[in-house]
Amino acid sequence: VRSQTTLRSPVSIEGIGLHTGQRVRATFRPAPENHGIVFFRRERPDLPIPATAASARSFDHATTLGRDGFTIGTVEHLLSAAYGLGLDNFQVELDGPEIPILDGSALPFVRLFQAAGFSRQSRPVAPYEVSQPLEVSAGDKSISIRPGRGLTICYEIEFAHRAIGRQKLTANISSGDFAARIAPARTFGFLREIEYLRQKGLARGGSLQNAVVLDDEGIISGPLRFRDEFVRHKIMDLVGDLALLGRPLEGRIHARKAGHALHAELVRALLAPAAEAWVPAGAALIRAEG
Ligand SMILES: [Zn+2]
Repeated sequence: VRSQTTLRSPVSIEGIGLHTGQRVRATFRPAPENHGIVFFRRERPDLPIPATAASARSFDHATTLGRDGFTIGTVEHLLSAAYGLGLDNFQVELDGPEIPILDGSALPFVRLFQAAGFSRQSRPVAPYEVSQPLEVSAGDKSISIRPGRGLTICYEIEFAHRAIGRQKLTANISSGDFAARIAPARTFGFLREIEYLRQKGLARGGSLQNAVVLDDEGIISGPLRFRDEFVRHKIMDLVGDLALLGRPLEGRIHARKAGHALHAELVRALLAPAAEAWVPAGAALIRAEG
């Protein structure tokens, strides 16, 4: 089990929010052991918003945390970078309602955290070990998890679009696959959907600079970073949503056509008291035998 880790020095990053279109500055500061990741809105330094499932407010096209009417939007790429690099404790102060989207990937956060440096703390992390298989599903979307060492994610997507089609990839998040293979994958959207989202007041900051954008024919935002960038981004989003568990997860995940809402279901199912307390008699015997 690795040691808890924080940032060595404070760092800041600035950019616009994907959904609000507002310019925001996020400042990251080191935090002590067992602190976790905690957000603050600059106007409410007395109101900590922890990066945990209990703070989750909505999963509509992005993951939003909130408390007492103050929200922090689009946290998943930042949390994904933190989880993927094994960063457990830090504070984030934000002077607006949404984390900047930057290039639409987790890479700018990875580079920022690497520039800040990591400081190992003396206490170990307390991994969440899955003791029995668990599955959440909705229609043809599903995510299952079974016991395993480290965190392995196999993700499958299928879109009736020739630039995407069927993509499937397995990544071992705990082995260091994350920074090079997963973090650079950008968010993606369909031009038609973006127009609809704008009518709903979302995607106001979306542009060809911060997303892979597709029209009916193909990709209009330039070359991809990976041929299967789409499925890599889905893995990145899932890692960010799993960060809401508040501790590293150990298990093998298989996700099919899922999204933020189902990612959140999985986190809720894992946190439900029954998931850890209820163990079939056979499994308990096996565990007792060591
Ligand atoms: Zn995303």
